[in-house]
Amino acid sequence: MSASADVAAAGYEGLAAAERGETAGAGAAIVIVGREAGARQILRRELSKRYGADYQIVACDRPAELAPWMRDLRAAGLPVAMVIGGIDAQDRDGIEVLAAVRAIDPRALRVAAVGWGDWASVRSVFDAVTVGKIDHWVIRPVQAPDEEFHRAITEFLREWGSQRGGGFEAVQVIGERWSARSQELRDLFARHQVPAGFYDAASGRARQMLRELGLESAELPVVVLRFAAERSALVNPSNPEIADAFGLMRPIPAGEVFDVVVAGAGPAGLAAAVYASSEGLRTAVVEDEAVGGQAGTSSMIRNYPGFSQGISGATLAQEMRRQAWAFGTTFVYMRQAESLSRHGGHYRLALSDGSVLAARTVIIATGVAYRRLGIPVLEDLQGQGVFYGAATSEAPAMRGRKVFVAGGGNSAGQAALHLAKWAQNVTILVRAPSLAASMSDYLIRQIGAAPNIEVCYHVQVAGGTGTGGGHLQSLVLEDTASGARRTAPADALFVLIGAQPRTQWLGQGLARDRRGFIITGPDLPASTHARWPAARPPLPLETSLPGVFAAGDVRRGSVKRVASAVGEGAATIPLVHRYLARAAAGRETPHRPAPPPGIPVSTRPGPSRRPGDLAYAQ
Ligand SMILES: Cc1cc2nc3c(=O)[nH]c(=O)nc-3n(C[C@H](O)[C@H](O)[C@H](O)COP(=O)(O)OP(=O)(O)OC[C@H]3O[C@@H](n4cnc5c(N)ncnc54)[C@H](O)[C@@H]3O)c2cc1C
Repeated sequence: MSASADVAAAGYEGLAAAERGETAGAGAAIVIVGREAGARQILRRELSKRYGADYQIVACDRPAELAPWMRDLRAAGLPVAMVIGGIDAQDRDGIEVLAAVRAIDPRALRVAAVGWGDWASVRSVFDAVTVGKIDHWVIRPVQAPDEEFHRAITEFLREWGSQRGGGFEAVQVIGERWSARSQELRDLFARHQVPAGFYDAASGRARQMLRELGLESAELPVVVLRFAAERSALVNPSNPEIADAFGLMRPIPAGEVFDVVVAGAGPAGLAAAVYASSEGLRTAVVEDEAVGGQAGTSSMIRNYPGFSQGISGATLAQEMRRQAWAFGTTFVYMRQAESLSRHGGHYRLALSDGSVLAARTVIIATGVAYRRLGIPVLEDLQGQGVFYGAATSEAPAMRGRKVFVAGGGNSAGQAALHLAKWAQNVTILVRAPSLAASMSDYLIRQIGAAPNIEVCYHVQVAGGTGTGGGHLQSLVLEDTASGARRTAPADALFVLIGAQPRTQWLGQGLARDRRGFIITGPDLPASTHARWPAARPPLPLETSLPGVFAAGDVRRGSVKRVASAVGEGAATIPLVHRYLARAAAGRETPHRPAPPPGIPVSTRPGPSRRPGDLAYAQ
């Protein structure tokens, strides 16, 4: 039986046309599956009322026929956004039914609808989410309207829509499919949640677009901005040019001194900005890549408190950015903080565009960067099959491909699971003998349950080859125990092998440990590298420079998690207040003479202290 035939034959009483599958202009379908008629009907009624204009709502009462149904819908031009099914008495196999959807349509979200009070069943649902058999769960509506139910459904549909793309394109990128810059731009727009379409310059459509723009022989990539009243096209633009063209930044008047300038807009920097600006501090944030930092590259963060269904890293970051913006934070996008100095009683943060931000206090939240493989042939293929992070934005292009992920941490596990939705198979390459010490248990279980993910232990990437056209073709894999090497055909390699702190830009100006992580608070006097210049002991999270704080992954000893980065970012603000109050009272006079104006601050020897000397000033 075809989907449309069943819908038409169903003859539900009192249902609108949309519920009978006659929705004109529906761009996608929501499929309800289950044998229990009552549960099906409630879902159908509620979903039709709220989403019937945009989605075709169809119900399948025979789970065994779900696969041909979904294929029929696809053949009719209706992708399935969501399959929602019950796990009631008549549908005890409900989770398996939903799990099977992945093989039919990897993009359709699988949602279990649990009856209110059926707490005996929810444990199996939680377990199914944990191992990736289903994507989400929701309590079935108990009243009409049931806004809690709709809040969840709307969020699922938003998730589906943003993963699917293909809708409104605020930006169009025309470039070579396998060029590093094209990949950077795809990643940039995805992480900023700017709806962007990518057009391979070799395609007829792209050539036509370039012709219409009069840019047939322009340097690639070309970025077309379609949201402004007048469309504009940027030819091979730099990131700052793109940021400026978006018109989001306000000019900063000469002589403006911020209370606090934050370097880095990852979770730590964004949290600091939200709290600082909400508490009336004049705040600026500088970010050189994409808002959200590492978290912005995660397709789903499941352990951030308060989001029981998980939240995409980019969504979390954009919400925090908007929050900080609404409170009055000034954002400076696509500019790198290049040096920190002290002049005229203020800190001066010099940026990559030549401008300088003056501030009474500074928060360094520049996080960490992915460690590189350091294999020249593979470095040359970056963006052309070799990717650092970027699993979220590149995943759809991996359809049917042989994909490798190097790394054994949570970020590698998440990337592998996300890529496996599209790839033919994903091989995780791990140097260690097991994942247990480096990856969360829930990810290990999801990976174990994924039919197209394989984990290879005691293996490292030792080399590779590219095609004549400059795209990854194979990898040389080395057994770390025996040293034996083998060559494996590979379409893509995603590298997530740990990280190093982004502190090189600070020069010698700030006390750091051997690996480059910033030393803060009570650790400072104990460190042989650090010299503390003030007459008081350092505040928690304060660096070797009074009034300069560090938060998040960049800080020595920090817990490398989103929630802890957010916590540290927020925790810096009371310390900033305390420092500013002391400075206003003239109690922040340096213990030793301040460095000459305009000279980068340095860690010249100062009086050494014993840890026991510490007593925090109020
Ligand atoms: C793929 C992936 C998945 C993850 N999943 C999880 C998860 O599920 N749960 C969890 O708790 N943690 C997860 N993590 C870890 C988590 O994302 C990090 O701990 C967190 O993002 C750290 O935040 P941060 O703000 O300290 O630093 P970052 O996120 O590294 O942000 C630092 C920011 O500073 C910017 N920056 C750097 N240098 C400069 C400069 N000189 N000038 C201006 N800007 C600069 C960077 O571009 C970046 O945006 C994941 C990490 C990755 C990579």
